[in-house]
Amino acid sequence: NRRIRVGIAGYGNLGKGVEQAIRQNPDMELVAVFTRRDPEGLAKETGLKVERLADAKEYIDRIDVMILCGGSATDLPEQTPQLAKLFNTVDSFDTHAKIPEFYDKVNAAALEGGKVSVISTGWDPGLFSMNRLLMQSVLAEGHDYTFWGKGVSQGHSDAIRRVPGVKAGVQYTVPVEEVIERIRSGETPELATREKHRRNCYVVAEAGADQAAIRETIVNMPDYFADYDTTVTFITEEELAGEHSGMPHGGFVIRSGVTGNGNRQIAEFGLKLDSNPEFTASVLIAYTRAAARLSMEGAAGAKTVFDIPLGLLSPKSPEELRRELL
Ligand code: NDP
Repeated sequence: NRRIRVGIAGYGNLGKGVEQAIRQNPDMELVAVFTRRDPEGLAKETGLKVERLADAKEYIDRIDVMILCGGSATDLPEQTPQLAKLFNTVDSFDTHAKIPEFYDKVNAAALEGGKVSVISTGWDPGLFSMNRLLMQSVLAEGHDYTFWGKGVSQGHSDAIRRVPGVKAGVQYTVPVEEVIERIRSGETPELATREKHRRNCYVVAEAGADQAAIRETIVNMPDYFADYDTTVTFITEEELAGEHSGMPHGGFVIRSGVTGNGNRQIAEFGLKLDSNPEFTASVLIAYTRAAARLSMEGAAGAKTVFDIPLGLLSPKSPEELRRELL
């Protein structure tokens, strides 16, 4: 049983997390990192084997699964369909509204190449999606809730940094505790956006910038902040570096249902993550194992977490799993 040979396409937070996770999984080995930046510079910086992304096709026979670690906004819509023709792939595309369209494109490419392409895995989409599906299927009558945080939202942090007068900043999405407690105790409220999450911003202003104007621009920003209760706290660069440099995240998926005699049944799945990219990378690794196995069985096309049997994620054999975990 030889090791699964892995490539990493894109070396940001997630790519680095994947590299670290490979070291915790002895059934895998890293063949090379592929980047759009200068490969020599990155090789020197990281001590890894780094190649130009454009040269990835030279590795067709040396890589079993390519893990795609580009951003969802612009990298993956382009990179996944291209690479899915050449390699089995795994990605964490997380623009929920665009997943159906993304699936169709990637599925066509993967079928053309006879490869397996696991799309949109991670924790949300990913483990949260599985839990939504599982508990909806089990509890036919009920309400679903997803809460995120407390955690750093990259998209919202970027939005703050684009406000004139802002030097740096970070945004935390914070679930409203009181509402979660009501749901846990059996209520099934209909909730407006504002009632589910708060947004807390920590901002470093440029010298002489108008802080009141910055605050106004942020809290009224459509789509990002206007529909939420948003706080803006001005801090120094040192405070930002010292207290806000981590990437924590997490959240809960709750289904509150009723059965038979009106008995209430509450199912909850939660995550509390010190590092969002390291955890997401660990999920990608488990699906890399599944992608390699599916491909060996002759499967092809795009797959989501809904299409992949759980047992394929584990390094243990089906016999071991039946004995130890059932
Ligand atoms: P990054 O912005 O850190 O990296 C994205 C890409 O940008 C990299 O692949 C890299 O490509 C390039 N890049 C990284 N650092 C630099 C740099 N210093 N200079 C220039 N280019 C750089 O994003 P993350 O790794 O944090 O996240 C990737 C995606 O993962 C997110 O867009 C998100 O959609 C998804 N995600 C999904 C989750 C889920 O639960 N499904 C959870 C968390 C994230 P290259 O090496 O080619 O230059």
